[in-house]
Amino acid sequence: MERTENLADIVAVVCRDMQAHLGLGRVADYIPALARVDPRHFGIAVVTCDGRTACAGDADVPFSIQSISKVFTLTLALDRLGAPLWNRVGHEPSGSSFNSIVQLEREKGIPRNPLINAGALVVTDVVLAGRDPAAAIAEIAAFMQARADDPAVSVDPEVAGSEEQTGFRNASLANFLRAFENLQNPVTDVLEVYFNQCALRMSCRQLARAGLFLAHGGIDPRNDAKVTTPVRARRINAVMMTCGHYDASGDFAFRVGLPGKSGVGGGILAIAPHRAAIAVWSPGLNASGNSLVGVLALERLAALTRWSVF
Ligand code: GLU
Repeated sequence: MERTENLADIVAVVCRDMQAHLGLGRVADYIPALARVDPRHFGIAVVTCDGRTACAGDADVPFSIQSISKVFTLTLALDRLGAPLWNRVGHEPSGSSFNSIVQLEREKGIPRNPLINAGALVVTDVVLAGRDPAAAIAEIAAFMQARADDPAVSVDPEVAGSEEQTGFRNASLANFLRAFENLQNPVTDVLEVYFNQCALRMSCRQLARAGLFLAHGGIDPRNDAKVTTPVRARRINAVMMTCGHYDASGDFAFRVGLPGKSGVGGGILAIAPHRAAIAVWSPGLNASGNSLVGVLALERLAALTRWSVF
């Protein structure tokens, strides 16, 4: 039996229970602009397919969505290329860190999945095809505004610039991919789009709204917009479940049991299929690079709602 009669109460309980943990974990500091964020933030937003919204804590404070953007560019790239996208990027968990280069060499330039950096760069290359970087960035931002139903969603130029100046690993991955002919656009263009998509600023409320189509077979239940096909929505959820938390995706499935994608800004988007989209944010990361308090909060929410898919 489900116990979501009073979703607002459940979300308030989760937020209250997290107070004791605030500040735990380490804020990502390899992107200098992220290192300054106060680790004691916590926000949560749940948006349901039947039109309810429940928020608590810093649910309206925007943060850097970072790798969560990979879910949305994957949606756009599948729309462009369809199933042949999977010839250029796999759909297996990587078992290594999000920015690992070793695996890419062994597997001849075909990244394991679209949610690690190498795979996301290939996806961004597909989104960029036939456009200049500025147009591709504008298109991604417009997609996020439409999904979040909020024109205030935008790219933080300081974070994008900060990442551009320090993103030597991403530049290495992109050059490597290009050497294997798995990037078609110039490396600098792909990186520019990638850094800007990662630098999108969104609140938990905006992010949960933006992800709702994934809980509803690819259709936005608020206006019946067909964002993607039911099959693609299922595939994206499957990849989020198996690959969305870097090398701790198994642990997330074990503890939470929902498709999810984390970002080093401390956000996590989780999908309860046919029920809701959930966004949490708390900047302190655990050793695997996932929001420490964010995972705890989702674990608590999944227990209280019994929304685990297992
Ligand atoms: N922009 C970050 C990077 O490429 C994203 C990492 C993440 O959120 O996992 O390093």
